[in-house]
Amino acid sequence: MRPAHALIDLGALRHNYRLARRIAGGKSLAVIKADAYGHGAVRCAQALEPEADGFAVACIEEALELRQAGIRAPILLLEGFFDNEELSLIAEHDLWTVVATPWQVQALAAFKSPRPLRVWLKMDSGMHRLGLTPEDFRAAWLRLHGLPQVASIVLMTHLARADELDNSRTDEQAVAFALASRGMQAETSLCNSPGLLGWPALRGDWARPGLMLYGANPFPAHNTFTDQLRPVMSLRSKIISVRELGPHEPVGYGARFVTERPVTRIGVVAMGYADGYPQFAPNGTPVIVDGHACPLAGRVSMDMLTVDLSDHPAATLGSEVQLWGDALDASTLAARCNVSAYQMLCGVKRVPRLYL
Ligand code: PLP
Repeated sequence: MRPAHALIDLGALRHNYRLARRIAGGKSLAVIKADAYGHGAVRCAQALEPEADGFAVACIEEALELRQAGIRAPILLLEGFFDNEELSLIAEHDLWTVVATPWQVQALAAFKSPRPLRVWLKMDSGMHRLGLTPEDFRAAWLRLHGLPQVASIVLMTHLARADELDNSRTDEQAVAFALASRGMQAETSLCNSPGLLGWPALRGDWARPGLMLYGANPFPAHNTFTDQLRPVMSLRSKIISVRELGPHEPVGYGARFVTERPVTRIGVVAMGYADGYPQFAPNGTPVIVDGHACPLAGRVSMDMLTVDLSDHPAATLGSEVQLWGDALDASTLAARCNVSAYQMLCGVKRVPRLYL
């Protein structure tokens, strides 16, 4: 078998979920959309189900995959539904749905549901993506509240800049949300991971952490909460070839690395951008070989990358390689490669996942 896999530590996932819940001081939906940010939604849901208040996914396909795997906990559709047929599936499979646009309000108000649905009514407090204007939000509340097909309503909004700790937009969004929700007797939900980790006072009744569950820090610096996160994924491979080169020799596509020393030892690792490693990782990016940080040397290929082993003479064919994980934080690596940790983790699709 190709020596490339993602090792997923489900104990660390549970630890991070408990941390989220502790900060939230209440309920938390574990956001496991996009195949749990590359970690495998079914396995993550199974690991969290005994203690999770519920899950959140993007769309019905993701929710049905969880139901088919036997997950019985509440599942919220963050994008809501796209047509009436989906509303029927939501009722049939006992899902929770976001309602974020005027047409969704209309469709729900006209829907003859076989059972009352739990609805998360979403207000646009400044993100300007999904969500009802404050006026539509109040109108929707008046329209939906008390309808037989609506069991209960959670009021929600989404923070656009909570990862910028010195930006006043987050407080402004919270104020706009509080103003628009005034007088509505309902639970509230505002915080994603940066909201919870950086603005815990805004937590409301329900938190919606995603990234932090996987141990990644949404901020450039650490705080007392992010210090407690444990990495969940460790992306691993091996050295599959070693060669020695003289000076002035190019390595890889585009000759992005050229040797300088009298002798340079180049190791080839079975891991490329098709496996989720950042394609444009610069020369010098640390690659952990047998526990030693060795510099990436040359452009990352689809299935392989090359690393300079010159300062780690013990490294050889079969040496263990960690691309990120406990020895190299995923967020730090992503920042160095100018990608987001979100995108990097979601990109892990081809390699098999092994679960601890
Ligand atoms: N809530 C909503 C509405 C989202 O769209 C997302 C993810 O994009 C989250 C929560 C989770 O965000 P994060 O991964 O930053 O915690």
